[in-house]
Amino acid sequence: MFAVSTVPDIESVGVVGGSLGGLFQAVALAELGLDVTVWERSAGRPDDRGAGIVLQPSVAWFLSTFCDVDPDRISVPVTHRQFFARDGRSHHTLMRQQMISWGAIYKSLRDRLDSARYHDGQSVTALTPRRDAVDIHVGDAVHSVHSVDLAIIADGSASRHRGLVAPDRAPHYAGYVAYRGVIDETDLPAELSAVFRDRFSFYDGEHTQFLCYFIPGDFGAVAPGSRRMNWVWYVRADAAGLDRITTDRDGTAYGLSLPPGLIAPQVHAELLDRARTLLPEPLRRLVEGTREPFAQAILDGRVGRMRQGRMLLTGDAAFVVRPHTAASAEKAAADAITLFTALQQLPSMDAALAAWEKNRLAEGTALYRHGIDLGQRLGLNDPTPTTATGAGRTL
Ligand SMILES: Cc1cc2nc3c(=O)[nH]c(=O)nc-3n(C[C@H](O)[C@H](O)[C@H](O)COP(=O)(O)OP(=O)(O)OC[C@H]3O[C@@H](n4cnc5c(N)ncnc54)[C@H](O)[C@@H]3O)c2cc1C
Repeated sequence: MFAVSTVPDIESVGVVGGSLGGLFQAVALAELGLDVTVWERSAGRPDDRGAGIVLQPSVAWFLSTFCDVDPDRISVPVTHRQFFARDGRSHHTLMRQQMISWGAIYKSLRDRLDSARYHDGQSVTALTPRRDAVDIHVGDAVHSVHSVDLAIIADGSASRHRGLVAPDRAPHYAGYVAYRGVIDETDLPAELSAVFRDRFSFYDGEHTQFLCYFIPGDFGAVAPGSRRMNWVWYVRADAAGLDRITTDRDGTAYGLSLPPGLIAPQVHAELLDRARTLLPEPLRRLVEGTREPFAQAILDGRVGRMRQGRMLLTGDAAFVVRPHTAASAEKAAADAITLFTALQQLPSMDAALAAWEKNRLAEGTALYRHGIDLGQRLGLNDPTPTTATGAGRTL
């Protein structure tokens, strides 16, 4: 049961996009007693073949405080970082972390939100700001308009509505891709599984990095045998290479990512060849043991503002930071916690939204820069952006 709203000037909130960024906001704002509605373009429960996420403090705090979920129960602990050399030897250092999955976070948030507040399969086609409200236009064929006091734009890195708040700020391709894979624990040979148990494993090669760790299985399952191995392999690719990688086996071009199960046979064969040539043996075996590798383009995106009147940008619709920061989900959770705190503590909506924007712009900008620095240190950044490799290409 949520409290009655105590927020000045706001009773209703519309959230555009019902992935993690939108859900963090929806759950936190509902907790303030606001009447929250989420519209999500995709229909149905999302597939939980999704990848792993390093559990960071804001996500953990959010889950335990707002979702009544103990994050330790839906995450996999690691005790050490393990660093491989090309010949397969490794050394390790003590570093305790918790690994969670996209699906485990998603389920915790969705379970907390009344299903009447979440409309999936419904695309937001436009937002129209008015004096003290925003009209949210939903659907094409069957069109409806909903007037809300505050609109949260959480429609991701390819945001359609970002320009209402931050014009000309589309993210651009950083010049490399992340191949990714998940393998059910039961499909891993026991001796290979033992190599990675309790470890966050890395291999840094020339212009490449591979990392892997165990994550929960379906929607947070952590019982032995139900977990999954999750790996990520950063590989440079020029614009033509990106297009090849993200064009599926039937010739359909996906642009910036390739979903599991669709990789073209030639691209898959090249991935396996590259693994045999470049990777230490245990990591090569992970790539070989993955039935449905998938891929995503690495993007850089920053905005100069996150608020326009009663419209806010959150999550990847605002800043797209490199995965090396392990902070994208964390940033989305912190966006929501900071807004919750500002609305709860500051005397007016304007003061709260202004303080929120200042805080989130500073943190987003710092993370954006940190991600680019990490890419540079790993030798992944393109030395000649906007030239032959296509780095710098805007979405
Ligand atoms: C493959 C992959 C791996 C990742 N791994 C990590 C990781 O290891 N660590 C980490 O911290 N982060 C990771 N991330 C990023 C992390 O998941 C996101 O940063 C976080 O979920 C916040 O995203 P978001 O909700 O802002 O955007 P998204 O997750 O992109 O969601 C946007 C949502 O908006 C919906 N939408 C778009 N347009 C409309 C519209 N017009 N109307 C209604 N709905 C719309 C989309 O369908 C989508 O559900 C990963 C992301 C991907 C794709």
